[in-house]
Amino acid sequence: MADLTITLLAGGVGGAKAAEGLAASQYASATSIIGNIADDDEFHGLWVSPDIDTLIYSLGDQIDRVQGWGRKNETHQVLKELNALGQNTWMTLGDLDLATHIYRTSQKAKGVSASDVTTALAKRHGVRVPILLPTNDVVQTRVKTPAGWLSFQDFFVREHCQPEVLDTEYKGASDAVATPEALAQITHSDIIVIAPSNPIVSIGAILAVPEIQQAIESSGAYVIAVSPLIGGKTIKGPADKMLESAGKSIDSNGIYACYASFLNALVIDTVDQEEAIELEQKGLDVLVTPTLMKTTEEKSDLLSSVVQFALSQRHLKQGARRAS
Ligand code: GDP
Ligand code: CA
Repeated sequence: MADLTITLLAGGVGGAKAAEGLAASQYASATSIIGNIADDDEFHGLWVSPDIDTLIYSLGDQIDRVQGWGRKNETHQVLKELNALGQNTWMTLGDLDLATHIYRTSQKAKGVSASDVTTALAKRHGVRVPILLPTNDVVQTRVKTPAGWLSFQDFFVREHCQPEVLDTEYKGASDAVATPEALAQITHSDIIVIAPSNPIVSIGAILAVPEIQQAIESSGAYVIAVSPLIGGKTIKGPADKMLESAGKSIDSNGIYACYASFLNALVIDTVDQEEAIELEQKGLDVLVTPTLMKTTEEKSDLLSSVVQFALSQRHLKQGARRAS
């Protein structure tokens, strides 16, 4: 395993579960993560990067395990005071969490890149798996609703994902420059694992940086995605209505369609077993296994199986190529 290189593409909560699974597995030292920065926004003058912080807090065991986001043992004194001052406080930022945002914002004001801020925050929380950013430029997901375009957090948090989704866009993505670290990581990867994250707004926003998508397509890595749908439903969040708005079906086929240009394998839940045949007919390798992750053991077992499946399929393909 000495030379194995694994990259995980990850969003927030679903992404962090997969990240924790790899970090708790025998593949931890082979793994680096590329996280999503397109849910970022400014609150009270502070730059907040929710998916990156969810990864850091989860891997550092500082996450609120009940919510799946934010810090454990959190208090909200600052938010209460901001509320008393007449500020909008629907974005719940706790006191400990605010320290992260103050630090990120002040470092960025000094010219430190978002990537370097991420590395420093990860170090403070004892995170050993590298967390890379797709770009140091600002990319922001926007959601089109019947009432017009909303910022991602307006849609997700303020409006509780209630409005109908007509379209999504990644503002700034087409001009964004990929980080050299992310490009090198992808290029050297043997296996790229796509977490069971929202394929449109979490993974889609990483792929929206053109050099990232191109690097994955030309990497030669074995690309395997874990479906975020179980029995045609999301565990939480708006992935289902976003798939629909993107013209994709809300099932394994719809997930495959999001990644069709580079995907080698899809991991689907046992309850969706009957969807495997159609995927296999399309030339995809399919791993059918329980995909709901609650405990650390479930996370680590699933991600170990995913990597082992990828290694065995890659081996078979290399063997077949040699034989032909
Ligand atoms: P967000 O950024 O916090 O919205 O989180 P992600 O985009 O990383 O992940 C959201 C997706 O994770 C949702 O579509 C969920 O269905 C999916 N998800 C969450 N937990 C699990 C799990 O244990 N297993 C699977 N298969 N999917 C999950
Ligand atoms: Ca997110």
